[in-house]
Amino acid sequence: MKQSIELNHGQKVLPAIGLGVFKVEDGDTVIDAVVEAIRQGYRHIDTAAVYENEEGVGVGIRKGMEIANISRDDLFITSKLWNADQGYESAIAAYEASLERLGLEQLDLYLIHWPVEDKMVESWRALETLYREGRVGAVGVSNFQIHHLETLAENSDLVPAVNQVERHPLLRQTELASYMSEHGIVPVAWAPLMQGGLFEEQTLVEVAKEVNRSVAQVLLRWHLQTGWVIIPKSIKPHRIAENFDVHDFELTNDQMERIDALDQHKRVGPDPDDFD
Ligand code: NAD
Repeated sequence: MKQSIELNHGQKVLPAIGLGVFKVEDGDTVIDAVVEAIRQGYRHIDTAAVYENEEGVGVGIRKGMEIANISRDDLFITSKLWNADQGYESAIAAYEASLERLGLEQLDLYLIHWPVEDKMVESWRALETLYREGRVGAVGVSNFQIHHLETLAENSDLVPAVNQVERHPLLRQTELASYMSEHGIVPVAWAPLMQGGLFEEQTLVEVAKEVNRSVAQVLLRWHLQTGWVIIPKSIKPHRIAENFDVHDFELTNDQMERIDALDQHKRVGPDPDDFD
């Protein structure tokens, strides 16, 4: 199984496991989490303007690089354009503001965070400009349904490198995933652990016993074996380690199918069709 995924454009491959920092407080909390993740071998960090922790993420990146003795090129950093900043000029200004807060010269990936119906095409044009001018490694989207991706395709030749969406066994996203696979859009799972809501689920507890791993590790392994990139969030060093330690065991077809069967098309986050 691949530990990093090639994108349809951009300068770098995307490491299959990244650290998510949604709801992680700016300052020491986020700095420590990012440093710890980099120290343990993570090379991919996922933040967003609306998480209000880009400054701390930037400090954590610089400290982590020093401790792990790696360069900026070894890391893959993603941030996202918030809804209020959608539009052409405002998206470009928002990108520059994220760079300023992060203290970085460029991002490896910049995403439209949510599909704001009347503005997303203009926002995508802005991201396309940033990409074509070499100011960002790659550009993509988040929380886009098939019809949103089709709207972009009707208005632009640049296919998003990724679409980051809610995904876990209760929301397998099978239709969206096959559309994305046909179009070369890499799937990234947010809430890969369903924000902690699946740890008591019976099938998962059983499979975890069978493979002698934690439910979190079973969930993350299931994502990876289905070809999804994952960005689990934790600020605890032992969980950051646990979530990264999923490459030395495999789920059987039978175990994968039992987990697949949990699908209920159930979201824990907002529905992209009525969130903007
Ligand atoms: P998640 O599924 O990663 O779950 C995080 C929760 O699980 C936390 O409460 C954490 O304490 C707990 N946890 C983590 N590892 C654990 C372990 N090994 N054992 C037990 N508990 C564990 O949820 P998330 O944070 O919502 O999603 C991950 C990342 O996805 C975010 O941090 C963010 O970067 C991104 N995200 C993106 C969007 C979007 O709209 N694009 C929305 C939400 C999240």
